[in-house]
Amino acid sequence: MTEIYCGRCGRSVDDGDHDDCRRALALEPPRYCAECRRRMVVQVHPMGWSARCSVHGELTSG
Ligand SMILES: [Zn+2]
Ligand SMILES: [Zn+2]
Repeated sequence: MTEIYCGRCGRSVDDGDHDDCRRALALEPPRYCAECRRRMVVQVHPMGWSARCSVHGELTSG
């Protein structure tokens, strides 16, 4: 089974309570890649944001 990491705190989503994280992630970009837990390169711009993992590519808002 593949572990999935929380985009905000970087812990496994099965580890503890991520309700606050989920709320925050509705408003702000993730800091960690959900698949490999690498730090994402985050850019915020007027239309939203983009977050890039060097392995898994780019996520964008909206
Ligand atoms: Zn979390
Ligand atoms: Zn990744």
